[in-house]
Amino acid sequence: MRITVIGAGIVGVCCALELVRDGHQVTLVDPGPPGGRQAASYGHGCWISPASVVPMSMPGLWKQVPGYLLNPRGPLVIRWRFLARLLPWLLRFLRAGSTVQRVERTARALAVLLADSPARHQALAAEAGVPDLIRQDGLLYAYPDRSAFEAEATAWHLRRITGLRWQELDRAALEAREPDLAPHYRFGILAVDGGHCTDAGAYVAALAAAAQAGGATLMTAAATGFVFSGDRLVAVTTDAGRVDCDRAVLAGGVWSAALARHCGDGVPLESERGYHSVLATPAAGPRYPVMPSDGRMANTPTTAGLRLSGQVELASVTAAPDWRRADILTGHAVTTYPGLAAAGGPVADDRWMGHRPSTPDGLPVIGCSARSKDVVYAFGHGHVGFASGPKTGRLVADLLAGVAEDAVLAPYMAARFRR
Ligand SMILES: Cc1cc2nc3c(=O)[nH]c(=O)nc-3n(C[C@H](O)[C@H](O)[C@H](O)COP(=O)(O)OP(=O)(O)OC[C@H]3O[C@@H](n4cnc5c(N)ncnc54)[C@H](O)[C@@H]3O)c2cc1C
Repeated sequence: MRITVIGAGIVGVCCALELVRDGHQVTLVDPGPPGGRQAASYGHGCWISPASVVPMSMPGLWKQVPGYLLNPRGPLVIRWRFLARLLPWLLRFLRAGSTVQRVERTARALAVLLADSPARHQALAAEAGVPDLIRQDGLLYAYPDRSAFEAEATAWHLRRITGLRWQELDRAALEAREPDLAPHYRFGILAVDGGHCTDAGAYVAALAAAAQAGGATLMTAAATGFVFSGDRLVAVTTDAGRVDCDRAVLAGGVWSAALARHCGDGVPLESERGYHSVLATPAAGPRYPVMPSDGRMANTPTTAGLRLSGQVELASVTAAPDWRRADILTGHAVTTYPGLAAAGGPVADDRWMGHRPSTPDGLPVIGCSARSKDVVYAFGHGHVGFASGPKTGRLVADLLAGVAEDAVLAPYMAARFRR
């Protein structure tokens, strides 16, 4: 089949690779370069974490919302100006996490996408000739003490029931693994199977190049709509002309919602804006990825230096970045690695803001559009899109081959948002 894949972020390139593998004629359409700064897939925390089954909306979160509106230095902020427009999404978001039963369902659906994500990324990286970009050294959660860990009982319950393997680390073990870690971290959890990427942009570019080497065509253009004949897809329209095709995969990250509307689906998709700052030559820092519980951020060693990423800012896709949020990440790094305070403290060598494409229930949209089975969705991966890209690509290829199991895809269908 001739298949147009819209979007060359991690999800789009993984779909393209799997479709090429299945023998299809693939055109990958993106106005930007694969792995470019415009995409969430460029700037994320680089974690490939089977532990990321915990949705953002958890029981009791609603009590913290007033604080999020008022505390400009917290890990989650809602910009007042956008509150009225965000309200319907926020209410659905809070409802999705209102009971343990609901978040257990979400965690189990996320686990399908995440459980073997490090192995899938390693296989793709080897295939694309960049095996060094994916490492599997484990992922460390650092806590002040055991009681801080126990305060997150529901989150670790979700990880336990979805099969995560972990080890507990005492202060001595923490120090042996991460000598620069501040002494106030006295307890750690090591998710032993976790992996990370050392250059997210280069990795996406390498996967896109591998898809091209397999026969895919890369087109620099923005998709603008679809042409149907009855319920069959005939073409994808772009700002650089029409691409005739039999099927399309919509993998345009946060920008997918407008195109999904052309296909009869009003998916509630918002940007959970996130930030990173990079310290190119830090005076101190982690040897392996660390998530300090008091910072709620990922500290990841990359080829460009120490990438500090996190923050959730609810505003809009087009609002200007608030670089103070990247500076909060830089500031917190000194709390985690006191050695960074040397020589006047760290100054970020690079700062970035990007858009997590987020549905209110914390699950992506994978499945057929309302208008036609020929348009398949693959967007809305929120906080876990990097890790879950490879499995999503496989599911999409299976769906287009007619071999996907309905029960596996059921939690991700766009139909859950249809009235
Ligand atoms: C700060 C931060 C930290 C994160 N940390 C992690 C992490 O550690 N692990 C993890 O798994 N996930 C993480 N995420 C989430 C992850 O980055 C995203 O879920 C994932 O990158 C989404 O990939 P995507 O391909 O769907 O979208 P994107 O990467 O945004 O790609 C979408 C692509 O579509 C293109 N596009 C837009 N409009 C059109 C159009 N009209 N036609 C064609 N193409 C179009 C864009 O140019 C872009 O290249 C993080 C996100 C952020 C912001």
